[in-house]
Amino acid sequence: MAELDPETLKREMINWRRDLHAHPEFGFEEKRTAAFVAAKLREFGLDDVAEGVGGTGVVGTLKRGTGNRAIALRADMDALRISEQSSAPYRSGNPGVMHACGHDGHTAMLLGAAKLLAGEGGFDGTVRFIFQPAEEWGRGALAMLDDGLMQRFPFDEIFGLHNMPGLPVGHFETRAGPVMSAEDNFEIVLRGFGGHAARPHSGNETLVAACALVTNLQTIVSRRLSPADIAVVSVTELITDGTRNALPGLARILGDTRSFRPEVSAAIERQMRTIAEGTAAAYNIAAEVHYTREFVPLHNDAELVEAAFAAAKKIFDPGNVAVAREPMTASEDFARFLDHVPGCFVFLGNGEASAPLHNSSYDFNDDGLVFGASFHAAIARQRLGI
Ligand SMILES: [Zn+2]
Ligand SMILES: [Zn+2]
Repeated sequence: MAELDPETLKREMINWRRDLHAHPEFGFEEKRTAAFVAAKLREFGLDDVAEGVGGTGVVGTLKRGTGNRAIALRADMDALRISEQSSAPYRSGNPGVMHACGHDGHTAMLLGAAKLLAGEGGFDGTVRFIFQPAEEWGRGALAMLDDGLMQRFPFDEIFGLHNMPGLPVGHFETRAGPVMSAEDNFEIVLRGFGGHAARPHSGNETLVAACALVTNLQTIVSRRLSPADIAVVSVTELITDGTRNALPGLARILGDTRSFRPEVSAAIERQMRTIAEGTAAAYNIAAEVHYTREFVPLHNDAELVEAAFAAAKKIFDPGNVAVAREPMTASEDFARFLDHVPGCFVFLGNGEASAPLHNSSYDFNDDGLVFGASFHAAIARQRLGI
């Protein structure tokens, strides 16, 4: 088969990435993005391209040889509701929505890998290219799985990647075991009886109780969990119906928790309920706790991590391939696929000068495109060796 010119592919990926960047779409609204992806996959001559999997998901299938093993490579396509601060000619043309997490780059890299593998082969078996919607919501992977992903497009293992600001371009990191955390969200509603700011004793206002509760919640991690368990309890909002001269009768406390084991997530919820009810009782008001689980923890398979390191050493300078020191308390929808098959999630440098993910001036670093596409192709060829 004809060899692809690496410079041509690099230029193409830059064009795709910037086109996607200029047209960002929020989760489950990735219609243009999905059509773009499907059109490219058909152009590359894949055996099958399925659209509308789990809403706006796309699955491309490429078969070579007679092998009956299948591996999946996954990218995410969605953008965030953030207004981009950029003077780049390819800045977001969709007001209030931007690719602030680099999913434009992830999509372009997986398209690059599809073009490489379709053009050059070098494997025996089936590669599934999974382009998922709504990663940021933590809903897209589940939507594809609920739409019969594993039955319609079966695979034995799965690989995914994310760019990492702060890590130099050309650097590769991952680790076995826990990599990224679960994310749970909570809302605690305190109901009392508001009134005149001059006569606090005549009601049961909720603001002082809410402040005490925010402080008491800090003891979940510091006093109720084992120091060996990594967890975060963050209160991010405190909203009341009070005004300058009226005490609130209602207060809402919202926030986010992170953990790496279901037992820890359960312990956080249990302790939160105890503290909320106890604090509310002390102030003679009522508390309601709403606790939801948004992302499950991501655990990498040890054998596939070794395989990923071996593949990475062929693409990256081996001195730049490293074991990530510690699990991250950020979350990833990729974890949902790992409930069905073993997999490995890896991190690629987006440069030391990169703005953080979800920042309004973040931009994916195009210098990373070739590394990502080449890694995807290398791991597919290694796992489906001829
Ligand atoms: Zn993100
Ligand atoms: Zn992301």
